[in-house]
Amino acid sequence: MSAIKEKAESLKEEIIRHRRWAHMNPEPGFKEFKTSAYIKEELKKIGLDFRTAAETGIICDIKGNGDGKTILIRGDIDALPLQEDNDVPYKSQNQGMMHACGHDTHIACLLGTAKILSEMRDKFKGTARLVFQPAEEGPGGATPMVKDGAVGDPENPEVDAAIALHVTAGEDMLVNTIGVKDGPLSAGADEIYVEVIGKGGHGSAPHEAIDPVFVAAQIVIQVQGYLSRFVNTFEPVVMTFGKIVGGDRQNIISERVRMDGTLRTFNRDLRKQMYEKLPKLFSDIAKTYGAKAKTEIIPGYGVGINDRVLTDMLRELYGEMYGKAGLIEQEFPTMGAEDFFEFGLDGKIPAMMFWLGGGNKERGMLASNHSNYFDIDEDCLPMGSALLSGLAVKYLNS
Ligand SMILES: [Zn+2]
Ligand SMILES: [Zn+2]
Repeated sequence: MSAIKEKAESLKEEIIRHRRWAHMNPEPGFKEFKTSAYIKEELKKIGLDFRTAAETGIICDIKGNGDGKTILIRGDIDALPLQEDNDVPYKSQNQGMMHACGHDTHIACLLGTAKILSEMRDKFKGTARLVFQPAEEGPGGATPMVKDGAVGDPENPEVDAAIALHVTAGEDMLVNTIGVKDGPLSAGADEIYVEVIGKGGHGSAPHEAIDPVFVAAQIVIQVQGYLSRFVNTFEPVVMTFGKIVGGDRQNIISERVRMDGTLRTFNRDLRKQMYEKLPKLFSDIAKTYGAKAKTEIIPGYGVGINDRVLTDMLRELYGEMYGKAGLIEQEFPTMGAEDFFEFGLDGKIPAMMFWLGGGNKERGMLASNHSNYFDIDEDCLPMGSALLSGLAVKYLNS
């Protein structure tokens, strides 16, 4: 494994070049045309075959020495609609777009992995499948990639495991560290749209109307009480209404209010139960006041559960390569969502994502992901490539 680490270090300049190119050329989800072309060009230089999937996505198989398992290694490639405020030579060249979630790092680490694995095909069995995925930030590129064959037939998948990293730069995730967590890692996230329908009238005579603003307020308050009383307290659930639109003027009771919310859970069964219980709750609350509530739930990214065998393999690998000091056991999952786990087919294929530390206190690189000041210490890049390559080799030979 030390050979992989050394190889990754020797590629440092090259991996940094990839990261800077991507950082300067951020593109939105499913519009990563230049990014996709850049990656393809680099894969060609390495001499690898690949195919396009989901418009701007790329699937590249690296076959080892003899038959064996297949491991999918994913890197997302999209950026965010945000103006970069870092004053760096590699600053975003696209007005109002920025690699503020670090997916430029993921592209670079995966290209580094492509090079490392292509040069050591005789050292592993089976197949390493590199997946460059569009649109993680929305509307979601993993599911379209799965539909385009990223794991083979979902009924009988040809992929045996899936891995990915995510770079982050907080005070607790400095360069040379990684964050590892068993079990729940990222939440299942669903969109909830509620339309409350009352009866319009004069603001001075609410008894002659049915006020949907009042009903919407009841729903906002009561859903929190419902979740606290009816869901096991050890099962995290978050329900937030982030947007409410209704009304015409201060003295008019309007007919309708529209409420947009997000539902976050870790338990796959509980999530399904909520699909039935929440619309009924909203409808019952509305009924109490003579109104109607129509609810639409659009299922989003699935629950992200890290596979224990893979996290243990990562711990062992990290110890072999870098010692144990920088290994951070993550206590809590995030209620954020991540579509990488779609490649795990809701638990059918073992999947695992870990955090790559990119923060640097002295250099002021501590801004969180999605910040207009997000930046990483590029010293973390070889480690990213080394860990993805090493994990693939370790898994395929296990
Ligand atoms: Zn993000
Ligand atoms: Zn991200």
